[in-house]
Amino acid sequence: MKLSSLCKGIRFPKPKYPNVPTEVVPIPSPSRVILPMLQHAGTPCVPCVEKGSQVKIGDVVGRPQDETGASVHASVSGEVTDIAQVYTSSGQKSPAVIISSDGKDTWADNIKTDAEYLEKAPSVLIDRIKDAAIMSSGTEAAPVITDLTLSQKPRGYHFATGLPIFKPLDTLVINCVDTEPYYGAAYRLMDDFFDDLEAGIRTVKIVTEATRFIMAVDVQHSVSNQVRDLTGQLEVAVRSVDGTRFPTGVHRVLLKELLDLEIPMPYGEPRDYGVSVLKVDSIIDIGRAAKHLKPQVEKVISVFGKGVHDQKLVRVRVGTPLKDVLAACGGLAGRPGKVIFGGPMMGMAQFDLNVPISKDTEAVYVQTMDEVVRSVNHPCINCGLCVKVCPVRLVPSQLSKYCENDQFQDAAALNLMNCIECGCCHYVCPAKRPMVHQFRYGKSQVMVRRMG
Ligand code: SF4
Ligand code: SF4
Repeated sequence: MKLSSLCKGIRFPKPKYPNVPTEVVPIPSPSRVILPMLQHAGTPCVPCVEKGSQVKIGDVVGRPQDETGASVHASVSGEVTDIAQVYTSSGQKSPAVIISSDGKDTWADNIKTDAEYLEKAPSVLIDRIKDAAIMSSGTEAAPVITDLTLSQKPRGYHFATGLPIFKPLDTLVINCVDTEPYYGAAYRLMDDFFDDLEAGIRTVKIVTEATRFIMAVDVQHSVSNQVRDLTGQLEVAVRSVDGTRFPTGVHRVLLKELLDLEIPMPYGEPRDYGVSVLKVDSIIDIGRAAKHLKPQVEKVISVFGKGVHDQKLVRVRVGTPLKDVLAACGGLAGRPGKVIFGGPMMGMAQFDLNVPISKDTEAVYVQTMDEVVRSVNHPCINCGLCVKVCPVRLVPSQLSKYCENDQFQDAAALNLMNCIECGCCHYVCPAKRPMVHQFRYGKSQVMVRRMG
Protein backbone atom coordinates (compact mmCIF):
# COMPACT_ATOMS: atom_id res chain seq x y z
CA MET A 1 0.00 0.00 0.00
CA LYS A 2 1.46 3.32 -1.05
CA LEU A 3 0.64 6.84 -0.09
CA SER A 4 -0.59 9.02 -2.92
CA SER A 5 2.12 10.95 -4.71
CA LEU A 6 0.84 14.16 -3.18
CA CYS A 7 -0.95 14.33 0.15
CA LYS A 8 -4.58 14.65 -0.84
CA GLY A 9 -6.11 15.57 2.50
CA ILE A 10 -7.99 18.78 3.11
CA ARG A 11 -7.31 22.51 3.10
CA PHE A 12 -8.99 24.35 5.93
CA PRO A 13 -10.28 27.91 5.91
CA LYS A 14 -8.32 30.44 7.91
CA PRO A 15 -9.56 30.57 11.54
CA LYS A 16 -11.96 33.41 12.28
CA TYR A 17 -11.43 33.24 16.03
CA PRO A 18 -10.40 36.41 17.86
CA ASN A 19 -7.30 36.60 20.08
CA VAL A 20 -5.13 34.17 18.13
CA PRO A 21 -2.21 33.58 20.56
CA THR A 22 1.21 34.94 19.67
CA GLU A 23 3.22 33.95 22.74
CA VAL A 24 3.57 31.09 25.19
CA VAL A 25 2.12 31.97 28.62
CA PRO A 26 2.95 29.91 31.73
CA ILE A 27 -0.15 29.15 33.79
CA PRO A 28 -0.05 29.12 37.61
CA SER A 29 1.29 25.96 39.22
CA PRO A 30 -1.71 23.74 40.09
CA SER A 31 -2.62 22.92 43.68
CA ARG A 32 -2.91 19.23 42.75
CA VAL A 33 -1.56 17.09 39.94
CA ILE A 34 -2.80 13.71 38.76
CA LEU A 35 0.00 11.67 37.19
CA PRO A 36 -1.33 8.61 35.31
CA MET A 37 1.04 5.69 35.00
CA LEU A 38 -0.19 5.25 31.43
CA GLN A 39 0.87 8.21 29.31
CA HIS A 40 2.06 6.19 26.33
CA ALA A 41 1.04 3.31 24.08
CA GLY A 42 2.17 0.23 25.98
CA THR A 43 2.43 -1.21 29.46
CA PRO A 44 1.61 1.17 32.35
CA CYS A 45 4.33 2.20 34.77
CA VAL A 46 4.23 1.08 38.40
CA PRO A 47 4.02 3.66 41.23
CA CYS A 48 7.20 3.71 43.34
CA VAL A 49 5.98 6.12 46.05
CA GLU A 50 3.40 5.66 48.77
CA LYS A 51 0.58 7.71 50.16
CA GLY A 52 2.18 10.31 52.43
CA SER A 53 5.55 10.41 50.59
CA GLN A 54 7.12 13.86 50.20
CA VAL A 55 8.35 14.58 46.68
CA LYS A 56 10.14 17.35 44.81
CA ILE A 57 9.79 18.29 41.14
CA GLY A 58 11.70 15.74 39.08
CA ASP A 59 11.49 12.89 41.61
CA VAL A 60 10.50 9.59 40.01
CA VAL A 61 7.02 8.50 41.13
CA GLY A 62 6.44 5.70 38.61
CA ARG A 63 8.81 3.23 36.97
CA PRO A 64 8.36 1.55 33.55
CA GLN A 65 7.85 -2.21 33.32
CA ASP A 66 9.35 -2.53 29.83
CA GLU A 67 10.85 -0.51 26.98
CA THR A 68 7.43 0.78 25.79
CA GLY A 69 7.26 3.04 28.84
CA ALA A 70 9.38 5.64 30.61
CA SER A 71 9.47 6.95 34.17
CA VAL A 72 6.84 9.32 35.49
CA HIS A 73 8.21 12.31 37.43
CA ALA A 74 6.59 14.58 40.00
CA SER A 75 5.66 17.88 38.35
CA VAL A 76 5.08 19.79 41.60
CA SER A 77 6.67 19.49 45.03
CA GLY A 78 4.47 18.35 47.88
CA GLU A 79 2.84 15.26 49.36
CA VAL A 80 1.48 12.17 47.65
CA THR A 81 -2.13 12.20 48.82
CA ASP A 82 -3.44 9.19 46.95
CA ILE A 83 -2.69 6.41 44.48
CA ALA A 84 -5.92 5.77 42.65
CA GLN A 85 -7.45 4.60 39.40
CA VAL A 86 -8.26 7.50 37.05
CA TYR A 87 -9.38 7.95 33.47
CA THR A 88 -6.75 9.20 31.03
CA SER A 89 -7.45 11.49 28.09
CA SER A 90 -7.66 8.44 25.81
CA GLY A 91 -10.50 7.03 27.93
CA GLN A 92 -8.42 4.24 29.48
CA LYS A 93 -8.31 3.52 33.20
CA SER A 94 -4.87 3.81 34.75
CA PRO A 95 -3.35 3.90 38.21
CA ALA A 96 -2.22 7.43 39.04
CA VAL A 97 -0.12 9.16 41.67
CA ILE A 98 -1.92 12.23 43.02
CA ILE A 99 0.24 14.96 44.57
CA SER A 100 -0.92 17.97 46.58
CA SER A 101 1.42 20.86 45.92
CA ASP A 102 3.15 22.63 48.82
CA GLY A 103 3.26 25.74 46.65
CA LYS A 104 7.06 25.94 46.87
CA ASP A 105 7.93 24.33 43.50
CA THR A 106 11.17 22.88 44.85
CA TRP A 107 13.25 20.93 42.33
CA ALA A 108 14.94 17.64 43.21
CA ASP A 109 18.57 18.05 44.34
CA ASN A 110 20.02 16.16 41.36
CA ILE A 111 18.60 18.64 38.84
CA LYS A 112 21.20 21.25 37.98
CA THR A 113 22.62 22.92 34.90
CA ASP A 114 25.67 21.40 33.24
CA ALA A 115 27.33 24.12 31.16
CA GLU A 116 29.81 21.56 29.78
CA TYR A 117 27.16 19.16 28.50
CA LEU A 118 28.57 19.20 24.95
CA GLU A 119 31.82 17.70 26.17
CA LYS A 120 30.09 14.67 27.67
CA ALA A 121 30.30 11.25 26.03
CA PRO A 122 27.29 10.28 23.86
CA SER A 123 26.41 7.51 26.33
CA VAL A 124 26.09 10.08 29.16
CA LEU A 125 23.77 12.24 27.06
CA ILE A 126 21.73 9.20 26.03
CA ASP A 127 21.30 8.29 29.70
CA ARG A 128 20.12 11.84 30.45
CA ILE A 129 17.53 11.65 27.67
CA LYS A 130 16.37 8.24 28.94
CA ASP A 131 16.14 9.52 32.51
CA ALA A 132 14.14 12.55 31.36
CA ALA A 133 11.44 10.14 30.11
CA ILE A 134 10.49 12.30 27.13
CA MET A 135 7.48 11.00 25.22
CA SER A 136 6.54 11.78 21.68
CA SER A 137 3.27 13.68 21.24
CA GLY A 138 0.18 12.32 19.52
CA THR A 139 -1.83 9.13 19.41
CA GLU A 140 0.97 6.54 19.67
CA ALA A 141 3.16 8.16 22.31
CA ALA A 142 6.48 6.37 22.84
CA PRO A 143 9.80 7.26 24.51
CA VAL A 144 11.77 9.47 22.07
CA ILE A 145 14.97 7.68 23.00
CA THR A 146 13.85 4.80 20.77
CA ASP A 147 13.98 7.21 17.80
CA LEU A 148 17.57 8.15 18.54
CA THR A 149 19.26 4.88 19.34
CA LEU A 150 19.69 1.74 17.27
CA SER A 151 16.40 0.22 16.11
CA GLN A 152 15.24 -2.72 18.22
CA LYS A 153 13.70 -4.38 15.17
CA PRO A 154 15.98 -5.97 12.56
CA ARG A 155 15.56 -4.74 8.97
CA GLY A 156 16.03 -8.34 7.86
CA TYR A 157 18.31 -11.35 8.37
CA HIS A 158 21.55 -12.14 6.58
CA PHE A 159 20.85 -14.88 4.02
CA ALA A 160 23.93 -16.96 4.94
CA THR A 161 24.46 -16.39 8.65
CA GLY A 162 20.88 -15.67 9.74
CA LEU A 163 22.17 -12.75 11.81
CA PRO A 164 19.83 -9.79 12.15
CA ILE A 165 20.56 -6.74 9.99
CA PHE A 166 19.89 -3.38 11.62
CA LYS A 167 19.45 -0.29 9.49
CA PRO A 168 21.52 2.54 10.97
CA LEU A 169 19.88 5.94 11.36
CA ASP A 170 21.00 8.25 8.56
CA THR A 171 18.35 10.99 8.51
CA LEU A 172 16.73 12.85 11.38
CA VAL A 173 13.75 15.07 10.61
CA ILE A 174 12.72 17.80 13.06
CA ASN A 175 9.00 18.25 12.50
CA CYS A 176 7.95 21.88 13.05
CA VAL A 177 4.58 21.45 11.35
CA ASP A 178 1.49 21.37 13.55
CA THR A 179 -0.26 17.99 13.52
CA GLU A 180 -3.66 19.63 13.15
CA PRO A 181 -4.93 22.95 11.86
CA TYR A 182 -5.13 25.93 14.24
CA TYR A 183 -2.67 24.65 16.88
CA GLY A 184 -0.22 27.45 16.13
CA ALA A 185 2.30 26.05 18.61
CA ALA A 186 5.11 24.42 16.66
CA TYR A 187 6.62 27.51 15.08
CA ARG A 188 6.25 29.62 18.26
CA LEU A 189 8.25 27.08 20.25
CA MET A 190 11.29 27.56 18.02
CA ASP A 191 11.70 31.18 19.10
CA ASP A 192 10.24 31.10 22.59
CA PHE A 193 12.56 28.25 23.64
CA PHE A 194 15.44 29.04 21.35
CA ASP A 195 18.21 28.14 23.84
CA ASP A 196 16.67 24.72 24.56
CA LEU A 197 16.15 24.17 20.83
CA GLU A 198 19.82 24.87 20.18
CA ALA A 199 20.86 22.52 23.01
CA GLY A 200 18.49 19.86 21.65
CA ILE A 201 19.83 20.00 18.10
CA ARG A 202 23.44 19.96 19.30
CA THR A 203 22.64 16.97 21.54
CA VAL A 204 20.93 14.87 18.85
CA LYS A 205 23.87 15.58 16.56
CA ILE A 206 26.15 14.03 19.17
CA VAL A 207 24.05 11.04 20.20
CA THR A 208 22.83 9.80 16.81
CA GLU A 209 24.83 8.43 13.94
CA ALA A 210 22.64 10.38 11.48
CA THR A 211 24.45 12.29 8.77
CA ARG A 212 21.50 14.26 7.42
CA PHE A 213 19.38 16.64 9.52
CA ILE A 214 16.28 18.30 8.13
CA MET A 215 13.94 20.80 9.76
CA ALA A 216 10.48 20.65 8.19
CA VAL A 217 8.63 23.95 8.53
CA ASP A 218 5.18 25.05 7.49
CA VAL A 219 5.21 27.23 4.37
CA GLN A 220 2.74 29.65 5.98
CA HIS A 221 5.15 30.61 8.79
CA SER A 222 8.46 32.32 8.12
CA VAL A 223 11.43 31.06 10.11
CA SER A 224 13.03 33.78 12.23
CA ASN A 225 16.56 35.00 11.54
CA GLN A 226 17.96 33.47 14.73
CA VAL A 227 16.58 30.02 13.85
CA ARG A 228 17.81 30.37 10.27
CA ASP A 229 21.32 31.31 11.52
CA LEU A 230 21.31 28.39 13.96
CA THR A 231 20.29 25.83 11.34
CA GLY A 232 22.90 27.21 8.95
CA GLN A 233 25.60 26.95 11.59
CA LEU A 234 24.60 23.40 12.61
CA GLU A 235 24.10 22.19 9.01
CA VAL A 236 20.42 21.47 9.39
CA ALA A 237 18.57 21.87 6.09
CA VAL A 238 15.33 23.87 6.42
CA ARG A 239 12.63 22.55 4.09
CA SER A 240 9.16 24.01 3.67
CA VAL A 241 6.10 21.82 3.27
CA ASP A 242 2.49 22.72 2.67
CA GLY A 243 1.17 22.75 6.23
CA THR A 244 -2.10 24.30 5.07
CA ARG A 245 -3.07 20.89 3.76
CA PHE A 246 -4.03 18.48 6.55
CA PRO A 247 -2.56 15.93 7.50
CA THR A 248 0.88 17.05 6.29
CA GLY A 249 2.13 17.19 9.91
CA VAL A 250 1.48 13.46 10.45
CA HIS A 251 4.86 11.72 10.23
CA ARG A 252 4.07 9.24 7.47
CA VAL A 253 2.57 11.89 5.24
CA LEU A 254 5.35 14.33 6.03
CA LEU A 255 8.02 11.82 4.97
CA LYS A 256 6.23 11.29 1.67
CA GLU A 257 6.08 15.06 1.10
CA LEU A 258 9.60 15.74 2.26
CA LEU A 259 11.69 12.75 1.17
CA ASP A 260 9.33 10.94 -1.21
CA LEU A 261 9.68 8.05 1.23
CA GLU A 262 6.75 5.65 1.58
CA ILE A 263 6.68 3.65 4.78
CA PRO A 264 4.84 0.33 4.29
CA MET A 265 1.62 0.27 6.22
CA PRO A 266 0.35 -0.58 8.70
CA TYR A 267 3.32 -1.85 10.68
CA GLY A 268 6.33 -0.31 8.90
CA GLU A 269 8.30 2.31 10.82
CA PRO A 270 10.53 5.15 9.56
CA ARG A 271 13.36 3.56 11.58
CA ASP A 272 13.23 0.54 9.24
CA TYR A 273 14.43 2.97 6.54
CA GLY A 274 17.07 4.73 8.59
CA VAL A 275 14.87 7.76 9.26
CA SER A 276 13.55 9.23 12.51
CA VAL A 277 11.06 12.05 12.90
CA LEU A 278 10.96 14.05 16.12
CA LYS A 279 8.60 16.90 16.84
CA VAL A 280 10.18 20.23 17.70
CA ASP A 281 8.87 20.08 21.30
CA SER A 282 10.69 16.77 21.78
CA ILE A 283 13.95 18.36 20.55
CA ILE A 284 13.43 21.19 23.07
CA ASP A 285 12.85 18.65 25.86
CA ILE A 286 16.00 16.79 24.79
CA GLY A 287 17.94 20.06 25.08
CA ARG A 288 16.59 20.63 28.60
CA ALA A 289 17.45 17.08 29.60
CA ALA A 290 21.01 17.24 28.28
CA LYS A 291 21.87 20.73 29.53
CA HIS A 292 19.74 21.15 32.66
CA LEU A 293 19.10 17.46 33.56
CA LYS A 294 15.38 18.27 33.65
CA PRO A 295 12.80 15.53 33.06
CA GLN A 296 9.65 16.14 31.04
CA VAL A 297 7.36 17.70 33.63
CA GLU A 298 5.66 20.33 31.49
CA LYS A 299 4.04 20.74 28.09
CA VAL A 300 3.21 23.65 25.86
CA ILE A 301 -0.32 23.17 24.61
CA SER A 302 -2.64 25.22 22.48
CA VAL A 303 -6.05 25.96 24.02
CA PHE A 304 -8.35 27.16 21.27
CA GLY A 305 -11.84 27.18 19.84
CA LYS A 306 -14.94 29.35 20.17
CA GLY A 307 -15.90 27.58 23.37
CA VAL A 308 -13.02 28.94 25.47
CA HIS A 309 -12.87 32.53 26.61
CA ASP A 310 -9.18 33.34 25.95
CA GLN A 311 -7.32 31.32 23.37
CA LYS A 312 -3.79 30.78 24.58
CA LEU A 313 -0.61 28.84 24.09
CA VAL A 314 0.01 27.74 27.64
CA ARG A 315 2.97 26.19 29.41
CA VAL A 316 1.44 23.73 31.83
CA ARG A 317 2.64 21.07 34.28
CA VAL A 318 2.03 17.47 33.28
CA GLY A 319 -0.81 16.19 35.46
CA THR A 320 -2.70 19.49 35.67
CA PRO A 321 -6.45 18.79 35.64
CA LEU A 322 -8.18 20.03 32.49
CA LYS A 323 -10.51 22.28 34.49
CA ASP A 324 -7.50 24.23 35.87
CA VAL A 325 -6.20 24.78 32.34
CA LEU A 326 -9.59 26.04 31.17
CA ALA A 327 -9.87 28.30 34.24
CA ALA A 328 -6.48 29.83 33.38
CA CYS A 329 -7.88 30.60 29.93
CA GLY A 330 -10.87 32.51 31.29
CA GLY A 331 -13.18 29.49 31.46
CA LEU A 332 -15.73 28.21 28.98
CA ALA A 333 -17.47 30.71 26.72
CA GLY A 334 -21.01 30.49 25.40
CA ARG A 335 -22.94 27.23 25.68
CA PRO A 336 -20.28 24.51 26.00
CA GLY A 337 -20.44 21.70 23.46
CA LYS A 338 -17.37 19.46 23.42
CA VAL A 339 -13.97 19.65 25.08
CA ILE A 340 -11.50 17.73 22.96
CA PHE A 341 -7.91 16.67 23.69
CA GLY A 342 -6.15 17.24 20.38
CA GLY A 343 -7.63 19.03 17.41
CA PRO A 344 -10.88 19.04 15.48
CA MET A 345 -9.85 16.16 13.21
CA MET A 346 -8.05 13.57 15.32
CA GLY A 347 -8.85 14.67 18.86
CA MET A 348 -10.62 12.75 21.58
CA ALA A 349 -13.72 14.23 23.27
CA GLN A 350 -13.61 14.17 27.07
CA PHE A 351 -16.37 13.35 29.50
CA ASP A 352 -14.70 14.66 32.66
CA LEU A 353 -12.97 17.99 33.27
CA ASN A 354 -10.72 16.33 35.89
CA VAL A 355 -8.79 14.45 33.20
CA PRO A 356 -5.12 15.46 33.51
CA ILE A 357 -2.81 16.89 30.85
CA SER A 358 -0.35 14.16 29.93
CA LYS A 359 2.98 14.04 28.12
CA ASP A 360 1.32 13.36 24.77
CA THR A 361 -1.22 16.19 24.95
CA GLU A 362 -0.74 18.73 22.16
CA ALA A 363 -3.88 20.84 22.36
CA VAL A 364 -7.27 21.35 23.95
CA TYR A 365 -10.02 22.33 21.52
CA VAL A 366 -13.34 23.60 22.87
CA GLN A 367 -16.46 23.72 20.74
CA THR A 368 -19.67 25.53 21.52
CA MET A 369 -22.89 23.58 21.28
CA ASP A 370 -23.81 25.07 17.89
CA GLU A 371 -20.46 23.91 16.44
CA VAL A 372 -20.88 20.27 17.43
CA VAL A 373 -21.48 18.11 14.36
CA ARG A 374 -23.67 15.14 15.13
CA SER A 375 -23.04 11.98 13.12
CA VAL A 376 -26.32 10.58 11.91
CA ASN A 377 -25.28 7.48 10.02
CA HIS A 378 -27.37 8.12 6.94
CA PRO A 379 -26.83 5.63 4.13
CA CYS A 380 -23.83 6.26 1.88
CA ILE A 381 -24.81 8.00 -1.35
CA ASN A 382 -21.66 6.85 -3.18
CA CYS A 383 -20.54 10.39 -3.92
CA GLY A 384 -16.88 9.35 -3.73
CA LEU A 385 -15.73 12.44 -1.82
CA CYS A 386 -14.17 10.36 0.95
CA VAL A 387 -12.09 8.38 -1.56
CA LYS A 388 -10.91 11.64 -3.09
CA VAL A 389 -9.47 13.00 0.17
CA CYS A 390 -8.08 9.87 1.89
CA PRO A 391 -4.31 10.46 2.18
CA VAL A 392 -3.54 6.73 2.31
CA ARG A 393 -5.63 5.72 -0.71
CA LEU A 394 -8.28 3.74 1.11
CA VAL A 395 -11.91 3.40 0.12
CA PRO A 396 -13.51 4.75 3.30
CA SER A 397 -17.08 4.33 2.05
CA GLN A 398 -16.67 0.56 1.62
CA LEU A 399 -14.72 0.17 4.86
CA SER A 400 -17.46 2.02 6.66
CA LYS A 401 -20.11 -0.32 5.29
CA TYR A 402 -18.09 -3.38 6.30
CA CYS A 403 -17.51 -2.09 9.85
CA GLU A 404 -21.14 -1.09 10.18
CA ASN A 405 -22.19 -4.65 9.35
CA ASP A 406 -19.56 -6.35 11.57
CA GLN A 407 -17.66 -7.63 8.50
CA PHE A 408 -14.33 -6.89 10.12
CA GLN A 409 -12.28 -9.46 8.19
CA ASP A 410 -13.54 -8.00 4.90
CA ALA A 411 -12.58 -4.55 6.14
CA ALA A 412 -9.13 -5.84 7.13
CA ALA A 413 -8.70 -7.34 3.65
CA LEU A 414 -9.41 -3.85 2.29
CA ASN A 415 -6.55 -2.45 4.45
CA LEU A 416 -8.59 -1.11 7.34
CA MET A 417 -5.47 -1.34 9.53
CA ASN A 418 -3.74 1.21 7.27
CA CYS A 419 -6.18 3.92 8.28
CA ILE A 420 -4.35 6.71 10.12
CA GLU A 421 -7.65 7.97 11.63
CA CYS A 422 -7.11 11.43 10.19
CA GLY A 423 -10.85 12.12 9.89
CA CYS A 424 -10.70 13.62 6.37
CA CYS A 425 -13.36 11.19 5.10
CA HIS A 426 -15.74 12.06 7.92
CA TYR A 427 -15.14 15.79 7.38
CA VAL A 428 -16.23 15.73 3.73
CA CYS A 429 -18.99 13.12 3.96
CA PRO A 430 -22.34 14.74 3.07
CA ALA A 431 -24.16 11.86 4.82
CA LYS A 432 -22.18 12.63 8.02
CA ARG A 433 -21.38 8.98 8.54
CA PRO A 434 -19.35 8.37 11.75
CA MET A 435 -16.51 6.79 9.86
CA VAL A 436 -13.58 7.34 12.23
CA HIS A 437 -15.55 5.81 15.10
CA GLN A 438 -16.44 2.85 12.91
CA PHE A 439 -12.79 2.42 11.88
CA ARG A 440 -11.49 2.63 15.46
CA TYR A 441 -14.02 0.06 16.54
CA GLY A 442 -13.32 -2.12 13.49
CA LYS A 443 -9.57 -2.02 14.13
CA SER A 444 -10.04 -3.00 17.76
CA GLN A 445 -12.21 -5.95 16.67
CA VAL A 446 -9.62 -7.08 14.11
CA MET A 447 -6.92 -6.94 16.80
CA VAL A 448 -9.07 -8.92 19.24
CA ARG A 449 -9.64 -11.63 16.61
CA ARG A 450 -5.95 -11.74 15.66
CA MET A 451 -4.94 -12.20 19.29
CA GLY A 452 -7.19 -15.20 19.37
S1 SF4 B 1 -9.75 8.39 8.57
FE1 SF4 B 1 -8.74 6.65 7.56
S2 SF4 B 1 -10.06 6.15 5.86
FE2 SF4 B 1 -10.66 8.21 6.53
S3 SF4 B 1 -9.44 9.58 5.23
FE3 SF4 B 1 -8.24 9.24 7.09
S4 SF4 B 1 -6.90 7.51 6.61
FE4 SF4 B 1 -8.51 7.56 5.04
S1 SF4 C 1 -18.32 10.69 1.40
FE1 SF4 C 1 -19.91 9.65 2.60
S2 SF4 C 1 -21.64 9.50 1.20
FE2 SF4 C 1 -19.85 9.97 -0.07
S3 SF4 C 1 -19.06 7.94 -0.74
FE3 SF4 C 1 -17.99 8.48 1.14
S4 SF4 C 1 -19.19 7.53 2.78
FE4 SF4 C 1 -20.49 7.59 0.97
